[in-house]
Amino acid sequence: SEPVTLPAGAVLFEEGAIGHSAYLILSGRIAIFQRRDGGESVLGRRGAGELFGEMAILDALPRSAGVRAEEDCVLVPVGAAQIRQRLAGADPILRLCLEGLIARFRETLPRLGPAVAGSRPAALSPAARADFDATVAALAQERALRRALAQDEFALFLQPIVRLATGRLAGFEALIRWHDPERGLVPPAAFIPAAEASGLIVAITAWVIGEIGRIVPPILQAGLQAPASVETSLFVSFNVTAQDLARSDIPGLIDAMLRRTGIAPGALKLEITESTLMQDPAGAAAALARCRAAGLGIAVDDFGTGYSSLSHLSALPITTLKVDRAFVRAMLAEPRDRRIVQTILRLAEEIGVAAVAEGIEGRAEAEALAAMGCALGQGYHFGRPMPQADALAAAAA
Ligand code: C2E
Ligand code: CA
Ligand code: CA
Ligand code: CA
Repeated sequence: SEPVTLPAGAVLFEEGAIGHSAYLILSGRIAIFQRRDGGESVLGRRGAGELFGEMAILDALPRSAGVRAEEDCVLVPVGAAQIRQRLAGADPILRLCLEGLIARFRETLPRLGPAVAGSRPAALSPAARADFDATVAALAQERALRRALAQDEFALFLQPIVRLATGRLAGFEALIRWHDPERGLVPPAAFIPAAEASGLIVAITAWVIGEIGRIVPPILQAGLQAPASVETSLFVSFNVTAQDLARSDIPGLIDAMLRRTGIAPGALKLEITESTLMQDPAGAAAALARCRAAGLGIAVDDFGTGYSSLSHLSALPITTLKVDRAFVRAMLAEPRDRRIVQTILRLAEEIGVAAVAEGIEGRAEAEALAAMGCALGQGYHFGRPMPQADALAAAAA
């Protein structure tokens, strides 16, 4: 997409041509025109900072009008493949809106001229049909999630996190569950992506923070009185997304919750996935720094899967790396995965943060990780995510 220059008076493309790119105008001015009955009419003009020529790319139909430079222009082409790649990755609801808008625009064309009018296909393409179906499903899912929030159908389960060297309970990770009256217990993988796409995640996370304030005090209390198998100062970690950090005042919500409940900030840890952090490291940094300054721990979740740059990592106020389950699961069979785990543990040590290995399903992994110096472990071997009452019993046992 090198900028191209178009001298005043030159025609860039004619009506009816196949579109290969849209154009951004860096400088100059273009006219959009149609020739009819020997005459020519100008339909519109575009100047610096505007885009033109996108329609034929979006609906893959011939150009509905020609374009000529009215002044010397510098244009940046945006190739069809570049646009279609973005469209393919876009939310289907957004795509459907765009398709509707283009169809509506094409319908106005008969009044403008015969050349392109009626070239809209009669039947919906399979892709448009799929977008339509996906939109119907997404809206139903969103309605169900709103109802779930209103009717308090969510619950936080707690999964034990154990100190590998001693086998003592060190804390819990809070993991959300949805008690859907129709479907029963729904795991987060089935609704968190939809919550993120619809923006409902922000309300869900606000609910999580409130619920943390309710369930954590009795757990910390139990830890204080617990026998030798449990550490005295337990912690509870919970998950937040990039959208939460960007769109809502997470530090403010947490701060209000801490004041209301008297929970010691050091007993809480924020978990944020590595891939999320890398989407917008600068945006996440400010919110994380405020949470860290308030005394919370900051854990990078699913570490090893998100292509972190180390310079970004070192700029963030991280206290914990969570080694992704994929490496832990494979480490006994695959020397390569074992070396990745070892490397992550060494990195954690170098930058002075704690490491938690996730997804420990057997005693062999637990022992290998302990021998490799991994401080904390989490997985079905130690316990599955459990309702609050069971976690309370575990903390008191
Ligand atoms: P995650 O944060 O990586 O959480 C760990 C997931 O691994 C949990 O799945 C947990 O049940 C599962 N797990 C733990 N130990 C083992 C094991 O030994 N073997 C296997 N196979 N799995 C194990 P879960 O609870 O289904 O959560 C899935 C993901 O959903 C979480 O991954 C997290 O990204 C997201 N999530 C869960 N709760 C919340 C929440 O409150 N807010 C947000 N934003 N995301 C959440
Ligand atoms: Ca997590
Ligand atoms: Ca994880
Ligand atoms: Ca995960």
